[in-house]
Amino acid sequence: MSSTATEKSVLESVPKQLLIGGEWRDASGGATFEVEDPATGLALCSVADATPEDALAALDAAVAAQAGWAATPPNERSEILHRAFLALGEQADELALLMTLEMGKAIAESRGELAYAAEFFRWFSGEALRLDGYYKTSGNGASRVLVMRQPVGPCFFITPWNFPNAMGTRKIGPAIAAGCTMVVKPAQQTPLSMLALARVLEECGLPPGVLNVITATRSGDVSAPVIGDPRLRKLSFTGSTGIGKKLIAQAADQVLKVSMELGGNAPFLVFADADLDAAVEGAMLAKMRNMGEACTSANRFHVHESVAREFAAKLAARMGALSLGRGTEDGVDVGPIIDATQRDKVAELVDDAVARGATCLTGGTKREGAGYFFEPTVLVDVPAGARVLGEEIFGPVAPVATFSTDEEAIAAANDTEYGLVAYVFTRDLDRAFKVCEALETGMIGLNQGIVSNAGAPFGGVKQSGTGREGGNEGIAEYLETKYIALNLG
Ligand code: NAP
Repeated sequence: MSSTATEKSVLESVPKQLLIGGEWRDASGGATFEVEDPATGLALCSVADATPEDALAALDAAVAAQAGWAATPPNERSEILHRAFLALGEQADELALLMTLEMGKAIAESRGELAYAAEFFRWFSGEALRLDGYYKTSGNGASRVLVMRQPVGPCFFITPWNFPNAMGTRKIGPAIAAGCTMVVKPAQQTPLSMLALARVLEECGLPPGVLNVITATRSGDVSAPVIGDPRLRKLSFTGSTGIGKKLIAQAADQVLKVSMELGGNAPFLVFADADLDAAVEGAMLAKMRNMGEACTSANRFHVHESVAREFAAKLAARMGALSLGRGTEDGVDVGPIIDATQRDKVAELVDDAVARGATCLTGGTKREGAGYFFEPTVLVDVPAGARVLGEEIFGPVAPVATFSTDEEAIAAANDTEYGLVAYVFTRDLDRAFKVCEALETGMIGLNQGIVSNAGAPFGGVKQSGTGREGGNEGIAEYLETKYIALNLG
């Protein structure tokens, strides 16, 4: 098949309707919206545009399925997740192409995301078998303490466009393992990957109503009635800090259990004693994974003044050699930015830095023509106060600033309302631990440029959010603790 024919066949095979109670159905009223290819600006296909009534119908289905699903043996829940883990591997070619078409990242990156997404199903298929409680004699010996863990109940998940599958499986995996049902609302730019994921889970034996998917353009309108419904027990959101704050306020009304995976402004610290080549390698991963459109993306590089020039030159050589293009094409490393608004914001941050005195070592401009491309960019001599150091860039831009003492580096790293992740490159063990202890983040990459791992607790502090996804901690977000005081007479 020609590549266009393959794209067509992959697009045709994806469900375009809402999944509610095990049925694929049109939005009430029949409205649809177009999904765009950010590499061309052209429409790929249309999907159902849910109404608030559809969203409540999806919640009805989740509520109706909850008791039966909670009573399903853990072995069955575990096996469904394991089958889904295998299925994502078997269908990786088609799912990666679909993701690249709607989101833009190069095919190799989409494959990487799918492998990461699948790992959450593998991890939580194990966790389903390890749900436990405990029994003990109270201190005074008068009674017994019995503690059990039960599924929280129906959940609502809102996910972003940057990792269209992985940000879903990080929530869906533990919810399935714990025995929770759910309604999922993916981002409007990337609904197809979530619809395809729902189909995979359906084929792997997930019963009707456990997972319901609504795609919509009026996100606030369809979400508000679900969040305000007393039958909902949990809200888990991945997205920007601004929207996260609004959702926390809405969730307060029903005192919902919330998990918030929000924005970041990750500092990347390179000390004078670092292995510079390893630091550049780590920088490429931390900066260029997902074209910089990751909450974990290294947003600013603070490099010791004695090695800053050399580090920046090496980084610029690597960044300048990347090839920009449609993610489906062979040899392309960097795809388009998700849309014109985001691409223009990246351009604005670069222009602001240059106007304040920064120098561009490579890149610096958007590419004219179809699609939303921005060249991989390295900026040096970026002065304090430049917007690019304070705001989440979400694009392939690496601003380099310098420091002279460890204290200065730590202060610069912590000078942000965000606290998701930081990267530290040093070969001095004492320094490494002192700096890690002082950094105000939920995660740290120590001499490595990537932290994402299904078996580790992912999440942030400060305005980067609350709660953890993955690791031993991930399942706890979907369980309530119930204590029974036992009187044995
Ligand atoms: P966003 O604008 O906050 O959107 C995220 C999701 O929220 C989308 O599904 C969006 O739907 C929905 N949404 C928007 N307004 C809403 C409202 N009023 N009520 C309910 N839902 C609403 O974020 P984004 O631009 O898609 O994603 C980028 C952000 O996500 C970045 O800040 C990034 O750092 C963060 N992120 C964080 C993590 C993490 O784990 N900490 C991981 C990935 C991304 P529409 O598509 O319809 O707008």
